[in-house]
Amino acid sequence: MSLSFEEVKKLKENAEIKTQAFINGKYADSLDGDTFDKVSPIDGKVIAKIASCKQADVDLAVSAARQAYEKGVWSDITPEQRKNILYAFANLVEAHHMELATLETMDMGKPISNSIGEIRRCFNGIRWFAEAIDKLYGAVATTRPSINAQIVREPYGVVAAIIPWNYPLMMAVWKFAPALAAGNSVVLKPAEQSPLTLLRIAEFAKQAGIPDGVFNVVPGYGETAGQALALHMDVDKITFTGSSEVGKLIMQYSGLSNMKRVSLECGGKCPNIVFPDAYDLDDVAKQTAGAMFYNSGQVCDSPTRLLIHKSIKESFLKKLIEYSKEYMPKNPLDPACSMGSVVTGEQMERILNYIEIGKAEGAKLKMGGKQVLCESGGYYVEPTIFSDVNNNMRIAQEEIFGPVLSVIEFETEEEAIEIANDSIYGLCAFVWTSDLKKAVSLSKKLKCGKILINSTGDGDWSVPHGGFKQSGFGRDKSIESIEQYTQTKLTWIEL
Ligand code: NAD
Repeated sequence: MSLSFEEVKKLKENAEIKTQAFINGKYADSLDGDTFDKVSPIDGKVIAKIASCKQADVDLAVSAARQAYEKGVWSDITPEQRKNILYAFANLVEAHHMELATLETMDMGKPISNSIGEIRRCFNGIRWFAEAIDKLYGAVATTRPSINAQIVREPYGVVAAIIPWNYPLMMAVWKFAPALAAGNSVVLKPAEQSPLTLLRIAEFAKQAGIPDGVFNVVPGYGETAGQALALHMDVDKITFTGSSEVGKLIMQYSGLSNMKRVSLECGGKCPNIVFPDAYDLDDVAKQTAGAMFYNSGQVCDSPTRLLIHKSIKESFLKKLIEYSKEYMPKNPLDPACSMGSVVTGEQMERILNYIEIGKAEGAKLKMGGKQVLCESGGYYVEPTIFSDVNNNMRIAQEEIFGPVLSVIEFETEEEAIEIANDSIYGLCAFVWTSDLKKAVSLSKKLKCGKILINSTGDGDWSVPHGGFKQSGFGRDKSIESIEQYTQTKLTWIEL
């Protein structure tokens, strides 16, 4: 869709910003009336004051979710009814998708063209899970003839979801769509940096026919609203996407409370291994730049460690730098923008600090490294590339979550595997080669939840996403994610 800057500015003027929590089918202030400032990273200006939920608000939301679940207003209707309502919900998201895309860009600074694509994936995702609902079966076990042993999957009841800021609506859809499809009630906590789209769609959930109490949104800080949810005695399951550091806390909160089930999608430091026999090195350079600087590098499965074969290092770097120039930051509301701001001033400082660390560690700064568009008041960092990085350096080991690429050289396949696996993370690895045997062999040896061969994207609802090691456990997307929101029950009948 071709859109002009002027049209996007108009969308911005008309976008509806919801500032209140959504509990039991109604928008409401936090009980103590407290709010936090929502700053747009585009220009550093406060655009809203959002309800800051605390324990008491979380208690209300969980209680509403519990009552709705126990009454069976959602869990006990027919699968077909649930499917139709989720479809209606998706249709409303689709009908408002340009507004939602504009809100997403205002909220966290991603290019408007990317936001539009992501919101499309959101309503398609809700449909994917809606469609799956009445196509799932239980099982009857093979026992002796006098027994009928049925194994069914039941929803947990109340599912809490804690969402990060990098894909504010999409990460929420990854969680609430399968959780609702399975029949649970949900309480969602958006990241304090990016609550706008999730708050906006709450009323669409109600309009679509999702009963009161089944879909709740409690904006607030991690240490207050998030912790209250994770420690809550009446939440049955918590699903979290965010940093590994907070993911570990979530596991502790579960153990300190009611042993609620936990699934975690956490950080990544993904290797992108380029062999000289890749089918088209020019295209690999182009795709690497695109994947690396998408969303200003604030992506858990960004290819942040480029492992390049020594024989092609210099020529590949030259191409990569040329393609990376296309990602010089612009105003993200400009349809011509391919890389916008980073999410907050704090995140920008963190990224700039890592750039200083890289220089001090002895890596060679080949491109970028600075804050730009300072006059805008927003938070913009150049696409940045370090070469001559050693995998022991902090810029190779720690998740920067910004547009900073570390280039590491290798000579043999074994060395590439060793470097790739030398990480606390295990989310995703990319491999570029036209040798099928080598690709399959690497796929077996790389310790990650996801291996992409000659590709940078797995944006399909039918495949699972999730990590090994400290990248977390549990899987989003695909049928596996619906299973994650259910538990098996055996009914053993003596005939
Ligand atoms: P974060 O861990 O700081 O925050 C994530 C969420 O947790 C936010 O909603 C926050 O308010 C909440 N939170 C913070 N402290 C909490 C606490 N003590 N108790 C309960 N909740 C708390 O992460 P972030 O900065 O928002 O997001 C970036 C991180 O998310 C990166 O590490 C990135 O890799 C990860 N991420 C992972 C995936 C994946 O699928 N693996 C996807 C997107 C982002």
